[in-house]
Amino acid sequence: SASLFSAIEMAPRDPILGITEAFNADTNTAKINLGVGVYYDDKGKVPLLECVQKAEAKLMEQPTPRTYLPIEGLAAYDKAVQELVFGADSPVIQEKRALTVQAIGGTGALKIGADFLKRFLPGSDVYISDPSWENHRALFESAGFTVHNYAYYDAATRGVNFDGMLAALKAMPAGSIVVLHACCHNPTGADLTQDQWDQVIAAVQAGNLVPFLDMAYQGFANGIDEDGAVVRRFAATGMAMLVSNSFSKSFSLYGERVGALSIVATTSEEATRVLSQLKRVVRTNYSNPPTHGGKVVATVLATPELRKLWEEELAGMRVRIREMRSAMVEKLKAKAPGHDFEFVREQVGMFSYSGLTKEQVGKLRDESIYAVDTGRICVAALNSTNIDRVVDAIAKVL
Ligand code: PLP
Repeated sequence: SASLFSAIEMAPRDPILGITEAFNADTNTAKINLGVGVYYDDKGKVPLLECVQKAEAKLMEQPTPRTYLPIEGLAAYDKAVQELVFGADSPVIQEKRALTVQAIGGTGALKIGADFLKRFLPGSDVYISDPSWENHRALFESAGFTVHNYAYYDAATRGVNFDGMLAALKAMPAGSIVVLHACCHNPTGADLTQDQWDQVIAAVQAGNLVPFLDMAYQGFANGIDEDGAVVRRFAATGMAMLVSNSFSKSFSLYGERVGALSIVATTSEEATRVLSQLKRVVRTNYSNPPTHGGKVVATVLATPELRKLWEEELAGMRVRIREMRSAMVEKLKAKAPGHDFEFVREQVGMFSYSGLTKEQVGKLRDESIYAVDTGRICVAALNSTNIDRVVDAIAKVL
């Protein structure tokens, strides 16, 4: 007789993780994986930050029992996140209009935000950028939403199709949920200018849209406060908003799953009610978050010398990525003189939409260099040892 699962079909492979599987199976010792979404140091290693090691040592000096955390997570963590995301002197904190819950990474923050919104805005649709982080669509669909794209990337200019984006925002029905990358757009590396953000904020406000800012790379574009500026400008309007943030990249704590969801309400009394409902979403999903990562981040952020160290280490990652962008541009100028790669220097964050076609990406793979079919490469996977081989291979496939 047929088993309960005999009719279940194989799910499609995750496109990004599929690259890593192919990479792992490649026996060429000179293989290079540019398909990842992880920061590597110049030695090609995922860093274990010194601030994290010191915070862990400090925590181990006084080991504590692993009781359950509150549903909303560690209070010290939630407070530190609010100050980082909104700014320590933010009116939304002073007026107790912001509420924050610790989440299972940035993905977990998006998911509890999506589940919360589905309960209270069941008739709304979700809009994500075209293209967007490959999990946005599936995540909001799995929460029950219909998901649409709004115009974002312009392949011709290798920048943002801002007119298209603005027109899309203006055409969205009131109450629509619009997911915006607060900084370091994944996958394109193309961000809006301050002036463009002003116009986006005005359109979101005028259209009564619900902004959901996703900030997975705070500190990787221009600095912690600089990158948080968009969130702060949205908050300054007084409109209701959601912000997911992640420390996977900025603390190199991928596997600890440390992130948070913050919601800004119109009054503190409203914030209290919203938090009570958000806690129900958490309780019915995974009850409460894990202890270790949250404690580490809270310890670093609340200990002045560790915080200073973190800011230096984060700046080090940001600067190294910029150096790799410049090196790639300069080296390609020499190796492929007919081609202009200047845009790579203008892009921010971990990624570059390199403009390489699917066919060209395929040819790179023949040389054991792995990139995403869309041409997305992880600039943070380049280093002083592998960059010449990558540039030579790109010059060859152009
Ligand atoms: N949002 C964006 C735009 C991302 O790029 C990522 C990670 O790649 C996430 C959210 C998820 O972050 P986390 O790994 O902390 O779940």
